[in-house]
Amino acid sequence: MIPDHSRIVKYDLPLFRPPSEAGSLIFQVTLGCSWNRCLFCASYRTKEYVVRPFEEVEKEIVEASWWYPDTRRVFLADGDPMAAPAGHLARVLDLINRRFPSLERISAYAGPTNLPGKTPEELSALKERKLDIVYLGIETGNDELLKKVNKGATAERIVGGCRKAIEAGLRMSVFIILGLGGVEGSSAHAKDSARVVNAIQPHFLATLTLIPHPDGRAYEEKVMGGGFRLVDRMQSLRELRWFVEDLELGNCKFGTEHASNYLPIRGATLPGDKGKILSLIDRALLDASPGMLRPEWARGL
Ligand code: SF4
Repeated sequence: MIPDHSRIVKYDLPLFRPPSEAGSLIFQVTLGCSWNRCLFCASYRTKEYVVRPFEEVEKEIVEASWWYPDTRRVFLADGDPMAAPAGHLARVLDLINRRFPSLERISAYAGPTNLPGKTPEELSALKERKLDIVYLGIETGNDELLKKVNKGATAERIVGGCRKAIEAGLRMSVFIILGLGGVEGSSAHAKDSARVVNAIQPHFLATLTLIPHPDGRAYEEKVMGGGFRLVDRMQSLRELRWFVEDLELGNCKFGTEHASNYLPIRGATLPGDKGKILSLIDRALLDASPGMLRPEWARGL
């Protein structure tokens, strides 16, 4: 993805951002991912993780502020800028606040160990500097599966980190990868993921659907061991249904609009829209026409 502002900010590609940050000005505070070992993820395989020196990021922020002085939203990349030391992040946020007077919010990706690694005071200090939304891939709430895919954290640790961030005033946007457990693990993956999401009570929730890298067979053999069968689109819908059915959320925006999903759902709110979502999934289970489900060729990460 080449961002809109690449005419001015020289990005180190590849660069990824959530769909909801399409209009945000992006700064790469870190490059790559500090973990970079999740077996289903090839996003940053070509990059070595580094916390970029303050002076380097400062130059880009100052330059961008001349061109885009009215910026309201800033997104911090790459894979887990929240892994950077809190003091470094605070310095970058202070500068962003100074240079963009209309700034409303800053958001960033986090890895599963980043939030447990920060103190409540550090997270509050970042919140005071307009860090507002943290995006985090839970992937699954099933511990066995988290271990198999080498996520580097247990469900309990992920819940603890997310709760700590929420208590510091940050909004959490989390996602689950449908199909991660294959056909055999589908039900446990859906149910454990719902349990973990319920424990977190995030503000935003989304699903992605597994598209193995580089192909299904490699994922089957190298990642999940023998016997792993990829879910097809019908099983993916059943898994989504099990997941949604078990969700007990106070107030959460829910979407499946990511291009990897078969059934795009936009702008839903839980718990209010739960019945409507379940009905839509039931309809899709009976009618798999292209008007209802995204065709295989149109799916992408
Ligand atoms: S923590 Fe996120 S970005 Fe890093 S390897 Fe895992 S899935 Fe990829």
